[in-house]
Amino acid sequence: MEKRKAAKEAAEELLQFIKESPDCFHAVEAQARRLRAEGFEELFEEEAWDLKEGGRYFVTRNQSSLIAFKIPKWDFAGFHIMASHSDSPSFKIKENPEMESEGWYGKLNVEKYGGMLCAPWFDRPLSVSGRLAVRTEQGIDVRLVHVDRDLLMIPSLAIHMNRAVNEGYKYNIQKDMLPIYAGGEGKGTFLKIVAESAEVGPEDVLGHDLFLYNRTPGTIWGAEEEFVSGPRLDDLQCAFSSLKGFLAGSHPDCVQVHAVFDNEEVGSCTRQGADSTLLYDVLSRISSSAGKDGQAFQQAISSSFMISADNAHAVHPNQGDKADPVNRPLMNQGIVIKYHGGQKYTTDAVSAAVFKELCGRAGVPFQTFTNHSDIPGGSTLGNLSSSHVPVRTVDIGLPQLAMHSPYETAGVLDTWYLIRAAREFFSSCLRAERGSCRLEAARL
Ligand code: ZN
Repeated sequence: MEKRKAAKEAAEELLQFIKESPDCFHAVEAQARRLRAEGFEELFEEEAWDLKEGGRYFVTRNQSSLIAFKIPKWDFAGFHIMASHSDSPSFKIKENPEMESEGWYGKLNVEKYGGMLCAPWFDRPLSVSGRLAVRTEQGIDVRLVHVDRDLLMIPSLAIHMNRAVNEGYKYNIQKDMLPIYAGGEGKGTFLKIVAESAEVGPEDVLGHDLFLYNRTPGTIWGAEEEFVSGPRLDDLQCAFSSLKGFLAGSHPDCVQVHAVFDNEEVGSCTRQGADSTLLYDVLSRISSSAGKDGQAFQQAISSSFMISADNAHAVHPNQGDKADPVNRPLMNQGIVIKYHGGQKYTTDAVSAAVFKELCGRAGVPFQTFTNHSDIPGGSTLGNLSSSHVPVRTVDIGLPQLAMHSPYETAGVLDTWYLIRAAREFFSSCLRAERGSCRLEAARL
């Protein structure tokens, strides 16, 4: 009973975090707020870092990726890293977005960001959020913006005008997915509305990175309140759990690192993605602050471990044949360890063994995911990141349905499981020993 109560509280806290995080920029700011409240100091890449033994810090890149870390002592053995992503599939507002239809509707020109399910974006209130580059007297400033009201809708075509629609429909993004926001007098005011929300003059807006988001609030539901649904569970459920575990756990011999990368949904190959130098840059600055030379840094990397946390597919209740015949994850049955023969997932026998040990110590269950061999499946952060920073890595995630819908479904217990596993991970220290590795338990 206690477990269910704690899990429900964690799910409610997760939904609050998601509400504050309609896009990647706000997701990073929501974490930065929590880190500042816990006494973490913000660092900036353009400044010299004066790190201290016992210090707790975070740094962001592009305002859309974040790395937080704790240095218990200079003579550390390695890094314990947990990585997730801040972005999710959506529609990005194009430059010069205002369009008109029938001389009356005001609508927006948008393009795809990532691979989304299109159908669930129709017929529900949407709005827009992101950031603006703004001209000020001091130079160009960047402001987060969130129009916190129902502003947009992508209306379906009535069935009477396409009787065959339920036999399958191929969506054309440029034609079918453009949202309306005004009729008559209101048209042509979109950028003005956005500028007003950011409390700047429309003439001072020099650039924008804006995304549509789903306004429907998250909910906990089911016969025994076993499900949680909401926007962006992939991957904010993992980012949130990683942050909670990171704040709760520590080990004196290890640097704890909580990393959240942008652009996973478009391949990660950006300045701030998992396929960038961001993680390497931060770890090497920590290492040089600790007085480690190049060889000592490489030794520390070899004695490190990463959990790449990105949500996984639960078996669908109506489409069970899409899942592997044997490895069939279900919601509320534990954290999913993901395997892929072609190495889209980094998990191997050793990294899986380490993670299973962690789950055992944390008292949480785990499950296994492999693709059905006829279905290629997705990819994630772990293999891209570990090609820059060669850390032993396991790919895991929480089981969910409707991945890449603007409204996804997961298990209430699973967030709580991952918080506990993350806390255990950040309270442990892995040491490599001539081909094998030893996992030291938390010293409480
Ligand atoms: Zn994901």
